[in-house]
Amino acid sequence: MNNRQTILIIEDEENITKLLRTILRTHGYNAIVATNANEGKSMASSHVPDLILLDLGLPDEDGINVIKQFREWTNIPVIVVSARSNDYDKVTALDLGADDYVTKPFSTDELLARIRTALRHKRVSFDEELKRTKLFVCGNLKIDFDKHFVTIGEEKVHLTNIEFKIMELLCKSSGKVLTHDYIMNAIWGPYAHNDNKILRVNMANLRRKIENNPADPKYIFTEPGVGYRMIEAD
Ligand code: CA
Repeated sequence: MNNRQTILIIEDEENITKLLRTILRTHGYNAIVATNANEGKSMASSHVPDLILLDLGLPDEDGINVIKQFREWTNIPVIVVSARSNDYDKVTALDLGADDYVTKPFSTDELLARIRTALRHKRVSFDEELKRTKLFVCGNLKIDFDKHFVTIGEEKVHLTNIEFKIMELLCKSSGKVLTHDYIMNAIWGPYAHNDNKILRVNMANLRRKIENNPADPKYIFTEPGVGYRMIEAD
């Protein structure tokens, strides 16, 4: 039986599909290819792949629309692989339900890490995720969500309620980028001011408490103009 995971590539540039296919096959995935949005949508429903790599600049339809349509019927992880590096497209893609994005030209390691993260979050059910995130351990950082207890090495870190909630949110999606709007909405609700200032202030405080050097963070990374990404647990 072939139990390799299948990844659907929706991309019109031949040299990129070739490169992606080679990378995926070398690393044990099945790769199937669609060269436009229409073909991609039909292959997604006929093959039900484990993950989709989606280009935004497709010949027949904008990839942003394709994400919207996917999310009407499926939770298959979608990673955007695009040359568009402007924040607006990244944020829109993520807020519409894309799981992550990789900007061309991308590094093989980065792409594979994003794929592993997205597949892992898909595999783990919400309950398991909750159980697993009762304890988050990465390097010196240890978070016990039941006891509301954060330590760096032997030292206890005192977090405010809000800071703790932000940590919990980021840890539940560790390895994935979360947009400013997503975090704002999850912590402060839909009617919060959307200038993100309160988030930046809390994030700065949080980093001062958990990072050795807040300007060069090891646990919570900034995705400029997009949001934040927590490192994956050990
Ligand atoms: Ca393209």
